[in-house]
Amino acid sequence: MDIAVSDNGILIQSQSQTAAVTGTEFNYYLLCKRKLWLFAHDVEMEHTSDNVLLGKLIDEESYSRKKKEIIIDNAVKIDFFDNNTVHEVKKSNKMEDVHIGQVLYYIYRLRKKGVDIRKGVINYPKQKRTTEVILTPERENEIKNTVEKVIKIKNAEQAPDVLNSKICKKCSYEDFCYS
Ligand code: SF4
Repeated sequence: MDIAVSDNGILIQSQSQTAAVTGTEFNYYLLCKRKLWLFAHDVEMEHTSDNVLLGKLIDEESYSRKKKEIIIDNAVKIDFFDNNTVHEVKKSNKMEDVHIGQVLYYIYRLRKKGVDIRKGVINYPKQKRTTEVILTPERENEIKNTVEKVIKIKNAEQAPDVLNSKICKKCSYEDFCYS
């Protein structure tokens, strides 16, 4: 395993293996399985979403001073790591369940690299609040099972059906899915 440290962050990379599931794919699985499939099949529209841009702006501005990004296998980007804790910055806590799953996956990936941690914190600077998450052994098993499901969807020939959910209104794939 190679570990490189620069002013901007930490890069952890295994030369012998490539990551099967990226952080974005795991996140999309939790949000919408169709979104995961579209993204995995190179239908990329995320940059057109104002919500995504706003999220990135808050991420960059709120924590720019203490931020030390960690990138694992060019697949998972952790916002920063502090006091043996993974931190993720989000603009709104509306999708908190998804954020919790995402951070649990990051901790899982770090543990797979031999980093002995279990704790994560989701930072919501706009709401001035934080949520703590712990990757228990039971949750670790759940994450492992979820990773297998993500791979199954990525490899599926057909895209899953549209969700017909209110979250579609804020999704960058809305035009694609409902045209
Ligand atoms: S528009 Fe809805 S169904 Fe389509 S990818 Fe987005 S969330 Fe999924």
